[in-house]
Amino acid sequence: MRHDRRRLASGERVGAAARRLRAQPGWDPRPRPDPVDPALTQQLGALRTADAYDQSKQCAACAAARAGGDTDALCADHLAQALGVKPS
Ligand SMILES: [Zn+2]
Repeated sequence: MRHDRRRLASGERVGAAARRLRAQPGWDPRPRPDPVDPALTQQLGALRTADAYDQSKQCAACAAARAGGDTDALCADHLAQALGVKPS
């Protein structure tokens, strides 16, 4: 996964990364039964993303990712946090 890390570090949009992740075979959150209210899950995801962006303001790796001109860029760690693939 060195190639992916390099791409993320260069500044990849969260939306693009999420689409790429969902496009991978075997990675589909939909078939999994979700006992939680979808609206709450969506709110939690929005809060998680906001939290990741809040923390990214003080992150040197995120700042480096944004140096490429993409103001929404996140480092690999904060991107994973925003996508919910890493326990916070
Ligand atoms: Zn970061």
